[in-house]
Amino acid sequence: MNKFDPATAIQRLDGRDANRGVNPAICDSATFTFPEAHLMTDTFHGETEGYFLYSRHWNPSNLALCQALAAMEGTEAAWVTGSGLAAITCALLHEVKSGDHIISSMTTYGGTFAFMANYMKKFNVETTFVNFQDLDAVRRAVQEHPNTKVLYTETMNNPLLRIANVPELSKIAHSIGAKLIVDNTFTPMIFSPYRLGADVVVYSMTKFINGKNDCVAGAICGSADYIGSLIDVNNGTCMLLGPVLDPMRSSSILKNLHTLHIRMQKHSANAMYLAKRFKEVGFKYNYPGLPEHPDYELFNSMMNPGYGYGGMISIDMGTAESASRIMEIMQKKGVGYLAVSLGYFKTLFSNSGKSTSSEVPEDIQREMGMSEGLIRFSMGLDNDIEATFQLIKESVDESCR
Ligand SMILES: *Cc1c(COP(=O)(O)O)cnc(C)c1O
Repeated sequence: MNKFDPATAIQRLDGRDANRGVNPAICDSATFTFPEAHLMTDTFHGETEGYFLYSRHWNPSNLALCQALAAMEGTEAAWVTGSGLAAITCALLHEVKSGDHIISSMTTYGGTFAFMANYMKKFNVETTFVNFQDLDAVRRAVQEHPNTKVLYTETMNNPLLRIANVPELSKIAHSIGAKLIVDNTFTPMIFSPYRLGADVVVYSMTKFINGKNDCVAGAICGSADYIGSLIDVNNGTCMLLGPVLDPMRSSSILKNLHTLHIRMQKHSANAMYLAKRFKEVGFKYNYPGLPEHPDYELFNSMMNPGYGYGGMISIDMGTAESASRIMEIMQKKGVGYLAVSLGYFKTLFSNSGKSTSSEVPEDIQREMGMSEGLIRFSMGLDNDIEATFQLIKESVDESCR
């Protein structure tokens, strides 16, 4: 595969004309005028280019962000939603009808898990949850369920930071004519799942892509035909469920997307530094950027060079009680915030089993290998990461007193 650089792809995208703003103008309109009546009809039927109909479908601000996202992913097109979960649920609903089947990684974002495990049952769509690190188990599940329409996974999963083998999973999905949908929320720019064989890439832009924790937003990236089918006026899941992102938000997210590469590099460098220090002092840590991690080789085989191994790192403190104590002390000392979510400029930490994965039943949590004392960090853009390490270490020491 050719070397691909997502940041450069975004940068080269738009030669701006003179006398226009360096940022695309915010289009503050729900509906749009047509110079001729027949153009309105043609646009309804998807037969025009360059005309906008109505903002639930397309508007210029969303288009500018979508073009940048598509450049980043190496896809032809993208579409933006009001939350990550809206992107995920629309992408899933678009592929299945009553009686169809989904095979999902056992480890997904809690809301995604709840949607497939509970909500989709309303529509008679069953999901089999499989350990996606075991490709033979995925192959067996596919053989047992020939009505499978979707294989679903996160490139880097939460909270164990295991890596999905996207090239192999795409082969398994395509062998039965199913689609591979990949949530790349934890690893934008680091991985380009579409280029590795995924059919659809979904994001919670709430996290790293926006990076400011000032909104929730999502994205769906794929082929032009696919994105066109999502917003088809007669049968498109996005057009008909209507989860479109507000154009003002698109505009603010686009500005943040242009610094994503620098932020990812710093998040990754800080997490890598901590991983090495945690290792030195004997903490039970988990980080995919060190050779001890079971997916280190796989990570290297899939990654775009230059963005590191991501900003997520975890330590296992044994019990939920000791994790709670340490997190409270860390927050007082200014390490960061005891808060869910990730990809923020400040460090965020939470106990996964009691928060972001609490929708996942405890027996499955155990099967996944999740400890109840797991503290997940989303490393911030700290300038003095050694000082941060010292505060974490002091917090752990104090919690034992
Ligand atoms: C946060 C998150 C989501 C959900 O996104 P929202 O923007 O909160 O709706 C989905 N997948 C992953 C991996 C996430 O971290």
